[in-house]
Amino acid sequence: MLPVITLIGRPNVGKSTLFNRLTRTRDALVADFPGLTRDRQYGVGRIGPGPYVVVDTGGIGTAAEGVEALMERQVQLAIDEADHLLFLVDTKDGCTPEDMEIAQRLRRLGKPISLVVNKSDTMDPLLAVADFHQLGLDEPNAVSATQGLGVRDLIEHVFSRL
Ligand code: GDP
Ligand code: MG
Repeated sequence: MLPVITLIGRPNVGKSTLFNRLTRTRDALVADFPGLTRDRQYGVGRIGPGPYVVVDTGGIGTAAEGVEALMERQVQLAIDEADHLLFLVDTKDGCTPEDMEIAQRLRRLGKPISLVVNKSDTMDPLLAVADFHQLGLDEPNAVSATQGLGVRDLIEHVFSRL
């Protein structure tokens, strides 16, 4: 069985873009507006030490409704079948209250989680990750899903923690 790596995070942080990068496809819909990917989307990737299965999910969490309520069934199912969770956050937004809630929720699962600081092409990657140490997860992995920066390192990191 291939390891299952599942992308989790608020809408619009770049999950589908990273899915496409990890699978080298354009199967996942990428949009400028949140919430487009409604179901789970599966792909096989072979970057670095691969192969692996990648699962894209619709986003979770808005402050208004609360993460618990908004953790859609599809996302919960995707989390259940995951061997490793990639928790994506957005450099451009910084660490948001929703990110804090999601981190808390994910930590309780006891599954391996890698924190992925996406859109790090928009600023100095060292500055980009600084704001996210407060999430209390392991070392943040700075990537740019659009440019492919940091993606191979990320997958190597994931495989070292499976
Ligand atoms: P999702 O809702 O989490 O699946 O996010 P999407 O993959 O649909 O991306 C949301 C928006 O962020 C799109 O306009 C993407 O082009 C943009 N985006 C995604 N990754 C990056 C990145 O690494 N750098 C920049 N600058 N923009 C990105
Ligand atoms: Mg999406």
